[in-house]
Amino acid sequence: MTNESDGVAIVTGSAGGIGSAVATTLLEGHPQIRCAAVDLKPGHASPLIKEYGPHRVLEVLCDVSRPEDISRAMREVEAWDTPVVGLVNCAGIQLAGSTVDFPPEDWQKVLDINLSGTFYWCQAAGRHMMDNQGGAIVNISSVSEFFGWPLRAPYAAAKAAISALTRTLATEWAHLGIRVNAVAPGFIDTPLAREAIESGRLSKPDADALHAQLRFGSTAELAEAITFLLSPRASFITGETLKVDGGLTAKKLDWPPSP
Ligand code: NAP
Repeated sequence: MTNESDGVAIVTGSAGGIGSAVATTLLEGHPQIRCAAVDLKPGHASPLIKEYGPHRVLEVLCDVSRPEDISRAMREVEAWDTPVVGLVNCAGIQLAGSTVDFPPEDWQKVLDINLSGTFYWCQAAGRHMMDNQGGAIVNISSVSEFFGWPLRAPYAAAKAAISALTRTLATEWAHLGIRVNAVAPGFIDTPLAREAIESGRLSKPDADALHAQLRFGSTAELAEAITFLLSPRASFITGETLKVDGGLTAKKLDWPPSP
C-alpha cells in the first residue's frame, strides 16, 4: 500500500492461522482498505464477510499451485473495480520426511504451493500494480531458510527461494513504485502448530526454548509486522526479509542455559 487511499489488499491462505490474522488486522486498522480473501474452500471467507460486510471482503477461490487459477482469480479481484495496492502470500504447506525417501510428488507439491504460488501471485498483482498506482507485497519465508532443519528439505528450499525472489522483484520493480518484502517467522501459535503439539510430533517446551523469548509468537504479532511492511510507514524498506522470530535466529548458543 503506497498511500492511504482506497484499495484492495489480496491475502492468500486467508482462512489459515496467519492469513486470517493478516486479513483481520488490515480490515480492523485500515477502514479504507478492502480485502480479497483467497483460499481453497467455498465459504472460507464467510466469517470475514459477516464481520466486515461484502463491500469490504471478497471471497476468492483459488488453488495457488495452478497458474491458470491465479489468472482467473486476479480477474475476479479486478472486476471489483478498485486498485490492488497490497498482496500478502500466506498460502503454504509443510511436508516433513526423510530426504532420501521423499516422494517426488510431495517435493513438487511443496514447491508448487509455497514457491510457485508466491511467484505467480506476485506476477499477477505486480502487473496490475505497475499499471496503476504501485503497491506493496509481503511474502512469507521462514526461519528455516537460515539454518539446517532436518527432514524439511523442500520446505527450507522453497522458503530460501522466496527470499531470493523477494529481493529480485524488489529491485526489478522499485522504479514502478512497488515494494516487495518478506517475513521469516519463528514458531507461530497457529492451529497447524497446535495440531503438531497435540499429536506429539512437536514438543512445546523444546520449541519454546529455541526462541530467546522462550515462547511462540502469536498470529497477531506476525500480522502487525506484515501490515507495517505493507503500509506507507515502511516506504523506504524493500527487498528485505524481516525476521519475526522472538530471537530464534539470534540465539545461536543455548548459553547460559535457559531457565
Ligand atoms: P495454515 O493455518 O495451514 O494456513 C495456510 C492456508 O493456506 C490454509 O488456509 C490452507 O488451506 C491454504 N492453502 C493450502 N494450500 C493451498 C493452495 N494450494 N491454494 C490456496 N490455499 C492453500 O498455515 P499458517 O501457519 O497460517 O502458515 C501460513 C504461512 O506461514 C505458510 O507459508 C507457512 O509456511 C508460513 N509459516 C508458518 C509458521 C508457523 O509457525 N505457523 C512459521 C513460519 C512460516 P487448507 O487448510 O484448506 O489446506
